[in-house]
Amino acid sequence: MQNFTTNAINLKSYNLSETDKIVVMYSKEKGIIKGVAKGVKKTTSKLGGRMDMLIANKLLMRKGKNLNTICQAEALNTFKNSRKDIDKLFYSIYCSEIVNCFGVENDPNSEEIYNLLYKTLEAISISENKVELLISVIKFQLKITHIAGYSLELESCVCCGGKLDKENIRFSAQNGGTICEECAKGLFKSVKLHHKIRDFLITLLQLDFDAKTRYDELATEKICDFCFNILKQHIEQFSPKKIKSGQILEMTR
Ligand SMILES: [Zn+2]
Repeated sequence: MQNFTTNAINLKSYNLSETDKIVVMYSKEKGIIKGVAKGVKKTTSKLGGRMDMLIANKLLMRKGKNLNTICQAEALNTFKNSRKDIDKLFYSIYCSEIVNCFGVENDPNSEEIYNLLYKTLEAISISENKVELLISVIKFQLKITHIAGYSLELESCVCCGGKLDKENIRFSAQNGGTICEECAKGLFKSVKLHHKIRDFLITLLQLDFDAKTRYDELATEKICDFCFNILKQHIEQFSPKKIKSGQILEMTR
């Protein structure tokens, strides 16, 4: 049998037997992977709590015919502040669920997606207020849709391709971005998008995840909430599976 090591973040798990679980993870090297965590439900398990959701581990795996077995796990990050804060926990679950929805096995973008999820979970965990938390989640939403090939159009009208009048920009999650006033008339649903909010989104998409921007000081919770929501709707359009935690977030608002 062949062994291999990988860094992976636990996304979810389900029971295999009275003592064993199957853990679904997103790995840096291979995208979505699954592994059997033997004996993990026993209190004496050497894998311990490292197989819980939202933990990044360095793993030693044994390749099996059908399923891989998790032999050893060394925690890289437990994102511990998110375990004590219900808000942080919900947004962390939301991001990991999106990765589970868009992620595939042997994902060619696995390293980029793993790093994005890791950075997002870390930023959520250490965030000091709601605005900081939301900016991290918005960056995640923008970047994951970009990597998955569903980038938002924010520069011109997504319907006619025309230039946008700065004072009359509208946004349609269904159409995947900004639209001009004329095209908006023919649409069932669109919202007004202030040009400064549009610029805010473009900046967050273009810059590195860790880059500081003037928006870190300027953004308000109301603006961040608005951005989070339109991006959430955009992602739901393209997600191959229903994002359940998105509904929970709506109920807790
Ligand atoms: Zn148009």
